[in-house]
Amino acid sequence: MTRSRACPTCGTMQEFRKLDDDEKAAVRAKRGESHYVDDLWRCTAAGCLTYFRAGRLSDRDRLPESFVKEEAAAGE
Ligand SMILES: [Zn+2]
Repeated sequence: MTRSRACPTCGTMQEFRKLDDDEKAAVRAKRGESHYVDDLWRCTAAGCLTYFRAGRLSDRDRLPESFVKEEAAAGE
């Protein structure tokens, strides 16, 4: 499931999807084990790592750079 949202990083409308388990783990590693990650969505544009909390575009951050490579590899 994806949602179309205006990505503040891309500056255009993009498809967002919920974080997968690896991405959730990475966010928890950065923000703390108790950080709630089940309503976080990420931009699926190539090279864009922006994620935000559902309904709160201001509550956003970027995934670690390693997820750029994973995304590119999965697309081949
Ligand atoms: Zn984006």
